[in-house]
Amino acid sequence: MYDVAIIGAGINGCAIAYEFSTTNKRIAIFDKEGIASGGSGAAGAFISPKFSKAGELKELLSDAFIYSMKYYEKHFGHIFTKAPLLHLAKDEEDAQTLRSFKQNTTLKLLEVPGETREYVSIDAGIVDAKRVCEAMAKSAEFIQEEVVTLTFLDGYWLINEEYTVKEIVLATGAYRPIIREPYIQLRGIWGHRIDIQTTTQNSLSIHQFVSIAPSKDGVIAIGATHNVHYHPQTTKEPYDVTAGRRELLEKAAKTLKLEEVEVIKDYTGLRSGSFDYIPMIGPVVMAEETLRNSEINLTRKAQDYLEYSYYPGLYMINGSGGYGFVFAPYLAKALAEYIVSGKEINREVLPARFFARWARKVNS
Ligand SMILES: Cc1cc2nc3c(=O)[nH]c(=O)nc-3n(C[C@H](O)[C@H](O)[C@H](O)COP(=O)(O)OP(=O)(O)OC[C@H]3O[C@@H](n4cnc5c(N)ncnc54)[C@H](O)[C@@H]3O)c2cc1C
Repeated sequence: MYDVAIIGAGINGCAIAYEFSTTNKRIAIFDKEGIASGGSGAAGAFISPKFSKAGELKELLSDAFIYSMKYYEKHFGHIFTKAPLLHLAKDEEDAQTLRSFKQNTTLKLLEVPGETREYVSIDAGIVDAKRVCEAMAKSAEFIQEEVVTLTFLDGYWLINEEYTVKEIVLATGAYRPIIREPYIQLRGIWGHRIDIQTTTQNSLSIHQFVSIAPSKDGVIAIGATHNVHYHPQTTKEPYDVTAGRRELLEKAAKTLKLEEVEVIKDYTGLRSGSFDYIPMIGPVVMAEETLRNSEINLTRKAQDYLEYSYYPGLYMINGSGGYGFVFAPYLAKALAEYIVSGKEINREVLPARFFARWARKVNS
Protein backbone atom coordinates (compact mmCIF):
# COMPACT_ATOMS: atom_id res chain seq x y z
CA MET A 1 0.00 0.00 0.00
CA TYR A 2 1.34 3.42 -0.98
CA ASP A 3 0.40 6.66 0.69
CA VAL A 4 0.64 8.63 -2.53
CA ALA A 5 0.98 7.50 -6.15
CA ILE A 6 2.13 10.11 -8.62
CA ILE A 7 1.24 9.32 -12.22
CA GLY A 8 3.67 10.92 -14.66
CA ALA A 9 7.39 11.38 -14.07
CA GLY A 10 7.85 14.73 -15.78
CA ILE A 11 9.00 17.81 -13.91
CA ASN A 12 5.58 18.22 -12.26
CA GLY A 13 5.35 14.65 -10.95
CA CYS A 14 9.01 14.62 -9.88
CA ALA A 15 8.70 17.98 -8.07
CA ILE A 16 5.77 16.55 -6.08
CA ALA A 17 7.84 13.45 -5.26
CA TYR A 18 10.60 15.71 -3.98
CA GLU A 19 8.18 17.62 -1.72
CA PHE A 20 7.22 14.31 -0.09
CA SER A 21 10.82 13.11 0.25
CA THR A 22 11.14 14.66 3.70
CA THR A 23 7.95 13.04 5.01
CA ASN A 24 7.63 9.41 6.00
CA LYS A 25 5.01 8.76 3.35
CA ARG A 26 5.53 5.82 0.99
CA ILE A 27 5.52 7.30 -2.50
CA ALA A 28 5.31 5.59 -5.89
CA ILE A 29 5.86 7.39 -9.16
CA PHE A 30 4.48 5.75 -12.31
CA ASP A 31 5.50 6.52 -15.86
CA LYS A 32 4.72 4.57 -18.99
CA GLU A 33 8.14 5.30 -20.46
CA GLY A 34 10.61 6.60 -17.93
CA ILE A 35 11.63 9.64 -15.93
CA ALA A 36 11.47 12.83 -18.04
CA SER A 37 10.36 10.89 -21.11
CA GLY A 38 7.61 13.36 -22.08
CA GLY A 39 7.76 17.13 -22.57
CA SER A 40 10.16 17.50 -19.66
CA GLY A 41 12.94 15.55 -21.36
CA ALA A 42 12.73 17.85 -24.38
CA ALA A 43 12.90 21.12 -22.46
CA GLY A 44 15.77 23.55 -22.64
CA ALA A 45 14.74 24.13 -19.04
CA PHE A 46 15.49 27.85 -18.96
CA ILE A 47 14.35 29.41 -15.71
CA SER A 48 13.05 32.81 -16.71
CA PRO A 49 10.09 35.10 -15.97
CA LYS A 50 7.58 36.29 -18.55
CA PHE A 51 8.62 39.57 -20.15
CA SER A 52 5.16 40.96 -20.76
CA LYS A 53 2.90 43.74 -19.58
CA ALA A 54 0.68 43.12 -16.54
CA GLY A 55 -1.52 40.03 -16.30
CA GLU A 56 -2.35 37.07 -14.09
CA LEU A 57 0.12 34.75 -15.79
CA LYS A 58 2.93 37.28 -15.60
CA GLU A 59 2.34 37.85 -11.87
CA LEU A 60 2.18 34.14 -11.10
CA LEU A 61 5.30 33.45 -13.15
CA SER A 62 7.14 36.26 -11.49
CA ASP A 63 6.54 34.70 -8.04
CA ALA A 64 7.37 31.24 -9.41
CA PHE A 65 10.57 32.50 -11.04
CA ILE A 66 11.89 34.07 -7.83
CA TYR A 67 11.00 30.95 -5.85
CA SER A 68 12.45 28.49 -8.41
CA MET A 69 15.77 30.31 -8.79
CA LYS A 70 16.41 29.97 -5.05
CA TYR A 71 15.05 26.41 -4.96
CA TYR A 72 17.22 25.03 -7.77
CA GLU A 73 20.30 26.75 -6.40
CA LYS A 74 19.68 25.42 -2.88
CA HIS A 75 18.59 21.85 -3.65
CA PHE A 76 20.13 21.07 -7.05
CA GLY A 77 23.04 23.50 -7.33
CA HIS A 78 25.21 20.88 -9.09
CA ILE A 79 22.82 20.66 -12.05
CA PHE A 80 21.70 24.28 -12.11
CA THR A 81 23.63 26.90 -14.08
CA LYS A 82 23.12 30.54 -13.24
CA ALA A 83 23.53 32.57 -16.41
CA PRO A 84 22.62 36.11 -17.42
CA LEU A 85 19.63 36.11 -19.74
CA LEU A 86 19.41 38.53 -22.65
CA HIS A 87 15.85 38.82 -23.92
CA LEU A 88 15.76 40.66 -27.26
CA ALA A 89 12.67 42.26 -28.80
CA LYS A 90 11.36 40.47 -31.89
CA ASP A 91 9.70 43.58 -33.38
CA GLU A 92 8.52 47.06 -32.44
CA GLU A 93 5.46 45.81 -30.55
CA ASP A 94 7.68 43.51 -28.52
CA ALA A 95 10.11 46.40 -27.93
CA GLN A 96 7.28 48.44 -26.40
CA THR A 97 6.35 45.52 -24.16
CA LEU A 98 9.95 45.23 -22.97
CA ARG A 99 10.12 48.98 -22.24
CA SER A 100 6.95 48.70 -20.18
CA PHE A 101 8.33 45.61 -18.39
CA LYS A 102 11.54 47.45 -17.50
CA GLN A 103 9.62 50.41 -16.07
CA ASN A 104 7.52 48.22 -13.79
CA THR A 105 9.72 45.33 -12.75
CA THR A 106 11.27 44.93 -9.34
CA LEU A 107 13.88 42.50 -10.74
CA LYS A 108 17.46 43.73 -10.94
CA LEU A 109 18.19 44.66 -14.56
CA LEU A 110 21.61 44.07 -16.11
CA GLU A 111 23.46 46.13 -18.70
CA VAL A 112 24.73 44.38 -21.83
CA PRO A 113 27.51 46.62 -23.20
CA GLY A 114 27.42 47.11 -26.97
CA GLU A 115 23.88 45.71 -27.41
CA THR A 116 21.97 48.11 -29.68
CA ARG A 117 18.71 46.15 -30.02
CA GLU A 118 15.90 46.70 -27.45
CA TYR A 119 16.45 44.22 -24.66
CA VAL A 120 15.93 43.17 -21.05
CA SER A 121 18.70 41.38 -19.23
CA ILE A 122 18.48 39.74 -15.81
CA ASP A 123 20.15 37.00 -13.79
CA ALA A 124 18.40 33.76 -14.68
CA GLY A 125 19.29 30.08 -14.93
CA ILE A 126 19.11 26.75 -16.71
CA VAL A 127 18.62 23.29 -15.20
CA ASP A 128 19.64 19.98 -16.67
CA ALA A 129 16.10 18.77 -17.38
CA LYS A 130 16.53 15.01 -17.17
CA ARG A 131 19.01 14.98 -14.32
CA VAL A 132 16.92 17.30 -12.15
CA CYS A 133 13.83 15.10 -12.64
CA GLU A 134 15.86 12.00 -11.74
CA ALA A 135 17.31 13.68 -8.65
CA MET A 136 13.89 14.86 -7.47
CA ALA A 137 12.31 11.42 -7.85
CA LYS A 138 15.20 9.56 -6.19
CA SER A 139 13.50 8.75 -2.91
CA ALA A 140 10.22 7.60 -4.51
CA GLU A 141 9.65 4.08 -5.83
CA PHE A 142 9.67 4.29 -9.62
CA ILE A 143 7.27 1.96 -11.45
CA GLN A 144 7.55 1.85 -15.23
CA GLU A 145 4.00 1.07 -16.23
CA GLU A 146 1.17 2.79 -18.05
CA VAL A 147 -1.70 3.57 -15.70
CA VAL A 148 -4.81 2.44 -17.50
CA THR A 149 -7.40 2.07 -14.75
CA LEU A 150 -8.07 3.94 -11.52
CA THR A 151 -10.81 2.55 -9.33
CA PHE A 152 -11.94 3.85 -5.95
CA LEU A 153 -12.88 0.90 -3.71
CA ASP A 154 -13.53 0.74 0.05
CA GLY A 155 -11.75 4.03 0.76
CA TYR A 156 -8.67 3.36 -1.40
CA TRP A 157 -7.60 3.79 -5.00
CA LEU A 158 -6.68 0.73 -7.02
CA ILE A 159 -4.26 1.34 -9.89
CA ASN A 160 -4.37 -1.10 -12.81
CA GLU A 161 -6.26 -3.44 -10.45
CA GLU A 162 -2.95 -4.13 -8.72
CA TYR A 163 -1.57 -1.29 -6.59
CA THR A 164 -3.48 0.04 -3.57
CA VAL A 165 -3.00 3.71 -2.83
CA LYS A 166 -4.46 6.25 -0.44
CA GLU A 167 -4.00 9.36 -2.59
CA ILE A 168 -3.28 10.01 -6.26
CA VAL A 169 -1.58 12.91 -8.03
CA LEU A 170 -2.19 13.06 -11.78
CA ALA A 171 0.80 14.65 -13.52
CA THR A 172 0.31 13.24 -16.99
CA GLY A 173 1.08 16.34 -19.08
CA ALA A 174 -0.46 16.52 -22.54
CA TYR A 175 -1.02 12.78 -22.86
CA ARG A 176 -4.33 10.92 -22.92
CA PRO A 177 -6.15 11.69 -19.62
CA ILE A 178 -6.83 8.78 -17.29
CA ILE A 179 -9.83 10.45 -15.71
CA ARG A 180 -12.04 12.16 -18.25
CA GLU A 181 -13.87 15.25 -17.13
CA PRO A 182 -15.49 17.50 -19.75
CA TYR A 183 -14.25 20.76 -18.19
CA ILE A 184 -10.58 19.69 -18.12
CA GLN A 185 -9.10 20.47 -21.49
CA LEU A 186 -5.42 20.67 -22.21
CA ARG A 187 -3.73 21.35 -25.50
CA GLY A 188 -0.49 19.68 -26.39
CA ILE A 189 1.99 21.91 -28.18
CA TRP A 190 4.75 19.94 -29.83
CA GLY A 191 8.25 21.32 -29.55
CA HIS A 192 11.67 20.49 -30.98
CA ARG A 193 15.03 21.60 -29.68
CA ILE A 194 18.54 20.71 -30.77
CA ASP A 195 22.08 20.61 -29.46
CA ILE A 196 24.62 21.87 -31.98
CA GLN A 197 28.38 21.64 -32.10
CA THR A 198 29.73 25.01 -33.26
CA THR A 199 32.92 27.07 -33.19
CA THR A 200 30.82 30.11 -32.13
CA GLN A 201 31.22 30.97 -28.45
CA ASN A 202 28.18 32.33 -26.61
CA SER A 203 28.26 33.40 -22.96
CA LEU A 204 24.58 34.35 -22.41
CA SER A 205 21.16 32.73 -22.58
CA ILE A 206 19.61 34.65 -25.45
CA HIS A 207 15.85 34.60 -26.09
CA GLN A 208 14.41 36.12 -29.23
CA PHE A 209 12.80 34.02 -32.00
CA VAL A 210 14.12 30.92 -30.24
CA SER A 211 16.16 30.42 -27.08
CA ILE A 212 19.91 29.99 -27.39
CA ALA A 213 21.81 28.57 -24.42
CA PRO A 214 25.35 29.57 -23.43
CA SER A 215 28.13 27.38 -24.89
CA LYS A 216 29.17 24.35 -22.88
CA ASP A 217 32.16 22.36 -24.18
CA GLY A 218 31.56 23.69 -27.71
CA VAL A 219 27.86 22.76 -27.62
CA ILE A 220 24.93 25.19 -27.77
CA ALA A 221 21.30 24.16 -27.15
CA ILE A 222 18.70 25.86 -29.34
CA GLY A 223 14.98 25.59 -28.67
CA ALA A 224 12.19 25.35 -29.26
CA THR A 225 9.64 25.22 -32.05
CA HIS A 226 5.91 25.62 -31.29
CA ASN A 227 4.11 23.20 -33.56
CA VAL A 228 0.39 23.27 -32.78
CA HIS A 229 -0.51 20.90 -35.63
CA TYR A 230 1.55 17.88 -34.64
CA HIS A 231 0.47 15.54 -31.85
CA PRO A 232 2.05 12.06 -31.61
CA GLN A 233 -1.16 10.51 -30.24
CA THR A 234 -3.53 11.85 -32.89
CA THR A 235 -1.48 11.43 -36.08
CA LYS A 236 0.16 8.50 -37.82
CA GLU A 237 2.60 10.79 -39.67
CA PRO A 238 6.13 10.73 -38.29
CA TYR A 239 7.47 14.10 -37.16
CA ASP A 240 9.62 15.87 -39.78
CA VAL A 241 12.92 16.30 -37.91
CA THR A 242 14.72 17.92 -40.87
CA ALA A 243 12.12 20.68 -41.18
CA GLY A 244 12.27 21.26 -37.43
CA ARG A 245 16.06 21.58 -37.46
CA ARG A 246 15.88 23.98 -40.40
CA GLU A 247 13.34 26.19 -38.58
CA LEU A 248 15.44 26.28 -35.41
CA LEU A 249 18.68 27.14 -37.22
CA GLU A 250 17.01 29.83 -39.37
CA LYS A 251 15.44 31.47 -36.35
CA ALA A 252 18.66 31.28 -34.30
CA ALA A 253 20.64 32.82 -37.19
CA LYS A 254 18.46 35.96 -37.01
CA THR A 255 19.87 36.53 -33.51
CA LEU A 256 23.39 35.13 -33.54
CA LYS A 257 25.86 34.22 -36.29
CA LEU A 258 26.60 30.53 -35.79
CA GLU A 259 29.65 29.05 -37.50
CA GLU A 260 30.60 25.48 -38.44
CA VAL A 261 27.34 24.05 -37.20
CA GLU A 262 26.61 20.38 -36.78
CA VAL A 263 23.40 19.17 -35.14
CA ILE A 264 24.38 16.48 -32.67
CA LYS A 265 21.12 15.76 -30.83
CA ASP A 266 17.37 16.31 -31.24
CA TYR A 267 14.84 16.48 -28.42
CA THR A 268 11.09 16.52 -29.02
CA GLY A 269 8.05 16.52 -26.77
CA LEU A 270 4.72 18.04 -25.84
CA ARG A 271 4.07 21.02 -23.64
CA SER A 272 0.71 20.88 -21.94
CA GLY A 273 -1.16 24.18 -21.88
CA SER A 274 -4.48 25.07 -20.28
CA PHE A 275 -6.98 27.24 -22.16
CA ASP A 276 -6.38 30.33 -20.01
CA TYR A 277 -2.59 29.68 -19.89
CA ILE A 278 -2.66 29.38 -16.09
CA PRO A 279 -1.66 25.97 -14.66
CA MET A 280 -4.15 23.68 -12.94
CA ILE A 281 -3.31 22.28 -9.53
CA GLY A 282 -5.50 20.91 -6.78
CA PRO A 283 -8.44 18.58 -6.22
CA VAL A 284 -10.49 17.41 -9.19
CA VAL A 285 -14.22 18.23 -9.35
CA MET A 286 -16.64 15.42 -10.26
CA ALA A 287 -18.72 17.22 -12.87
CA GLU A 288 -21.74 14.91 -13.06
CA GLU A 289 -22.20 14.61 -9.29
CA THR A 290 -21.85 18.36 -8.83
CA LEU A 291 -24.33 19.12 -11.60
CA ARG A 292 -26.85 16.75 -9.99
CA ASN A 293 -26.73 18.67 -6.70
CA SER A 294 -29.75 20.96 -6.98
CA GLU A 295 -28.70 22.95 -3.91
CA ILE A 296 -25.80 24.56 -5.79
CA ASN A 297 -26.60 27.57 -7.93
CA LEU A 298 -24.14 27.06 -10.77
CA THR A 299 -25.26 30.13 -12.70
CA ARG A 300 -24.20 32.53 -9.93
CA LYS A 301 -21.08 34.52 -10.84
CA ALA A 302 -19.35 34.18 -7.47
CA GLN A 303 -19.00 30.44 -6.94
CA ASP A 304 -18.11 28.70 -3.70
CA TYR A 305 -15.80 25.92 -4.89
CA LEU A 306 -16.18 24.15 -1.55
CA GLU A 307 -19.77 23.26 -2.46
CA TYR A 308 -18.62 21.06 -5.36
CA SER A 309 -18.14 17.27 -5.20
CA TYR A 310 -14.54 16.09 -5.58
CA TYR A 311 -12.85 12.77 -6.29
CA PRO A 312 -11.66 11.54 -2.90
CA GLY A 313 -7.91 11.97 -2.46
CA LEU A 314 -7.27 12.71 -6.11
CA TYR A 315 -5.37 15.78 -7.29
CA MET A 316 -3.81 17.10 -10.47
CA ILE A 317 -0.88 19.26 -11.48
CA ASN A 318 -0.74 20.17 -15.15
CA GLY A 319 -1.04 22.92 -17.76
CA SER A 320 2.18 24.84 -17.18
CA GLY A 321 2.73 25.35 -20.93
CA GLY A 322 6.22 26.52 -21.83
CA TYR A 323 7.13 27.26 -18.23
CA GLY A 324 7.00 23.84 -16.54
CA PHE A 325 10.46 24.11 -15.01
CA VAL A 326 9.76 27.60 -13.67
CA PHE A 327 6.38 26.65 -12.22
CA ALA A 328 6.97 23.11 -10.92
CA PRO A 329 8.82 23.79 -7.62
CA TYR A 330 6.39 26.58 -6.69
CA LEU A 331 3.23 24.66 -7.58
CA ALA A 332 4.43 21.35 -6.13
CA LYS A 333 5.00 23.06 -2.78
CA ALA A 334 1.45 24.47 -2.81
CA LEU A 335 -0.07 21.10 -3.76
CA ALA A 336 1.94 19.11 -1.21
CA GLU A 337 0.95 21.56 1.55
CA TYR A 338 -2.68 21.19 0.52
CA ILE A 339 -2.47 17.39 0.60
CA VAL A 340 -0.60 17.21 3.90
CA SER A 341 -2.22 20.01 5.90
CA GLY A 342 -5.14 21.31 3.86
CA LYS A 343 -3.47 24.68 3.28
CA GLU A 344 -5.60 26.60 0.82
CA ILE A 345 -4.47 26.82 -2.82
CA ASN A 346 -4.73 30.10 -4.69
CA ARG A 347 -8.18 30.04 -6.43
CA GLU A 348 -6.77 31.17 -9.74
CA VAL A 349 -4.88 27.87 -10.25
CA LEU A 350 -7.60 25.47 -9.06
CA PRO A 351 -9.09 23.14 -11.70
CA ALA A 352 -12.48 24.09 -10.17
CA ARG A 353 -12.35 27.43 -12.03
CA PHE A 354 -12.78 25.55 -15.31
CA PHE A 355 -15.66 23.53 -13.87
CA ALA A 356 -17.41 26.76 -12.80
CA ARG A 357 -17.09 28.23 -16.33
CA TRP A 358 -18.17 24.99 -18.00
CA ALA A 359 -21.14 24.46 -15.65
CA ARG A 360 -22.38 28.02 -16.20
CA LYS A 361 -22.44 27.36 -19.95
CA VAL A 362 -24.16 23.98 -19.55
CA ASN A 363 -26.84 25.55 -17.33
CA SER A 364 -27.46 28.66 -19.44
C1 LIG B 1 10.91 21.55 -26.69
C2 LIG B 1 10.45 22.10 -25.37
C3 LIG B 1 11.19 23.11 -24.73
C4 LIG B 1 10.79 23.59 -23.49
N1 LIG B 1 11.55 24.55 -22.85
C5 LIG B 1 11.21 24.94 -21.60
C6 LIG B 1 12.03 25.86 -20.88
O1 LIG B 1 13.06 26.32 -21.38
N2 LIG B 1 11.65 26.23 -19.62
C7 LIG B 1 10.52 25.72 -19.03
O2 LIG B 1 10.24 26.08 -17.89
N3 LIG B 1 9.71 24.87 -19.70
C8 LIG B 1 10.02 24.47 -20.97
N4 LIG B 1 9.22 23.61 -21.64
C9 LIG B 1 7.95 23.23 -21.04
C10 LIG B 1 8.12 22.12 -20.05
O3 LIG B 1 8.92 21.12 -20.59
C11 LIG B 1 6.74 21.55 -19.70
O4 LIG B 1 5.94 22.56 -19.13
C12 LIG B 1 6.89 20.42 -18.70
O5 LIG B 1 7.67 19.41 -19.27
C13 LIG B 1 5.56 19.85 -18.29
O6 LIG B 1 5.85 18.82 -17.38
P1 LIG B 1 4.79 17.74 -16.99
O7 LIG B 1 5.40 16.97 -15.88
O8 LIG B 1 3.47 18.38 -16.77
O9 LIG B 1 4.60 16.85 -18.32
P2 LIG B 1 5.55 15.79 -19.03
O10 LIG B 1 6.97 16.09 -18.90
O11 LIG B 1 5.03 15.60 -20.41
O12 LIG B 1 5.30 14.47 -18.16
C14 LIG B 1 4.14 13.72 -18.22
C15 LIG B 1 4.56 12.26 -18.06
O13 LIG B 1 3.40 11.49 -17.82
C16 LIG B 1 3.60 10.23 -18.41
N5 LIG B 1 2.26 9.63 -18.59
C17 LIG B 1 1.21 10.19 -19.24
N6 LIG B 1 0.14 9.37 -19.15
C18 LIG B 1 0.53 8.30 -18.41
C19 LIG B 1 -0.14 7.11 -17.97
N7 LIG B 1 -1.43 6.87 -18.25
N8 LIG B 1 0.57 6.22 -17.23
C20 LIG B 1 1.87 6.43 -16.91
N9 LIG B 1 2.54 7.53 -17.32
C21 LIG B 1 1.88 8.46 -18.06
C22 LIG B 1 4.33 10.52 -19.71
O14 LIG B 1 5.05 9.40 -20.17
C23 LIG B 1 5.23 11.68 -19.30
O15 LIG B 1 6.54 11.25 -18.95
C24 LIG B 1 9.60 23.10 -22.89
C25 LIG B 1 8.87 22.09 -23.53
C26 LIG B 1 9.27 21.60 -24.76
C27 LIG B 1 8.46 20.52 -25.41
